[in-house]
Amino acid sequence: MDLSRFPRRRYTPFATPIEPMPRFSAALAATCPGGEGPDVWIKRDDMLGLFPGGNKTRKLEFLVADALAQGADTLITCGAPQSNHCRITLAAAAREGLKCQFVIEERVPGSYNPRASGNHFMFRLMGVERIMVVPAGADIGAAMEQLAADLVAQGRRGYVIPGGGSNAVGGLGYVACAQEMQEQWFEMGLRFDRILVGSGSSGTHGGLVAGFVGNRIDIPIVGVGVSRDPEQQEPLVMKEAQAVADLLGLGLQVPRDAVRSVGGYWQPKYSVPNVRMIEAVQMLARTEGIPLDPVYTGKIMAGLIGLARAGEFSPGERVLFVHTGGLPSLHAYEGVVLGEGEAVAP
Ligand SMILES: *Cc1c(COP(=O)(O)O)cnc(C)c1O
Repeated sequence: MDLSRFPRRRYTPFATPIEPMPRFSAALAATCPGGEGPDVWIKRDDMLGLFPGGNKTRKLEFLVADALAQGADTLITCGAPQSNHCRITLAAAAREGLKCQFVIEERVPGSYNPRASGNHFMFRLMGVERIMVVPAGADIGAAMEQLAADLVAQGRRGYVIPGGGSNAVGGLGYVACAQEMQEQWFEMGLRFDRILVGSGSSGTHGGLVAGFVGNRIDIPIVGVGVSRDPEQQEPLVMKEAQAVADLLGLGLQVPRDAVRSVGGYWQPKYSVPNVRMIEAVQMLARTEGIPLDPVYTGKIMAGLIGLARAGEFSPGERVLFVHTGGLPSLHAYEGVVLGEGEAVAP
């Protein structure tokens, strides 16, 4: 598919590597029935630009280009107190000479700390212009419109980016990723049996689905929910994938069976640690030296580990885990991931 007709800013000057994880795969197999497990590889989207980047970098390439085309001087977006999306949006704004404002939703009551470490420290370091903190369940869209209206009153122009950058334009970033991977598999002479990706605001999962359907890539994608079980998550992903397909002008309905997700790994609550996440973070760090984060990729990898132990993959099945980033929030949970803090059973 031709993505060149969409304006894009380039924030990563290379294709992120696809790497084998032999020590992790062996450690995992040793804990699987019959001592056999999948052959795990990682798509290193934790190495994306706007360092330390992550999946939001790809979405912002298209979103920021659209903001610039519309003459915006300020990016407005929203997220949780340790939002990777807010951090990467702010980094893009700094790079482009734009201002940046956030609505922060305090999803866990009392969790907003104006002196917190991790991503929040990065907000301050990179000079966020304004943060509006709202309680869980508040109308975030209305709060962002309020920030935009305040800018208009000052003769300025804001560009509102939805949570996680997950709309049709943002989803194009993962269509581009699908095409990048397709090229890499061809060059590397590698065939994958399954793709495993996190599924939250759904731009990553939905964008990949649209990219796979549009490019006729016939490899199943499994989304691991980070805040919802499949009954709630899959309709969101369907909606996102269809919106991206429509923007691309594919003229097709995304097949319902192209969207599959698993639940059970994010509990008790979005961003709240559980013991399976801690095991996953420690296991990948100690076998391959690659950090995962506590809010997203730790729980997503816990999903891969859980599926492997449940016999979901055939022995030696080649699975590609999309590492979506999140490194800074690890520093806001140091004791927890070392097993010294509070974590609940999944
Ligand atoms: C935002 C985020 C996700 C989830 O991606 P969505 O596109 O919102 O579904 C996964 N991993 C990390 C590290 C993230 O920051």
